[in-house]
Amino acid sequence: MRVEEKEMFKAVCSDCGQECEIPFKPTEGRPVKCRDCFRKGRPQRDNSRGGGNFRRERRDFDVTCAECGKETTVPFKPTQGKPVLCRDCFKKPQN
Ligand SMILES: [Zn+2]
Ligand SMILES: [Zn+2]
Repeated sequence: MRVEEKEMFKAVCSDCGQECEIPFKPTEGRPVKCRDCFRKGRPQRDNSRGGGNFRRERRDFDVTCAECGKETTVPFKPTQGKPVLCRDCFKKPQN
């Protein structure tokens, strides 16, 4: 299988002034960074674990499914008096 080649555009890095190629068309007036500077510009975090995916931690709430009684978690605070369904029951078409 052949990997489709991406079109590369010549640009000059606004950071180090080096000529570089970027996989998107440079927008006029917008600074372009070479791969090195792009990486450098990112906030340095501990990437040793988890691949550096630092999304805000999601809070899950423990609930009991109103349909099957299974214990599950939902990413939102359950409203009192409103039935909460587990993922499976939520996906099931309701009759
Ligand atoms: Zn650069
Ligand atoms: Zn359920």
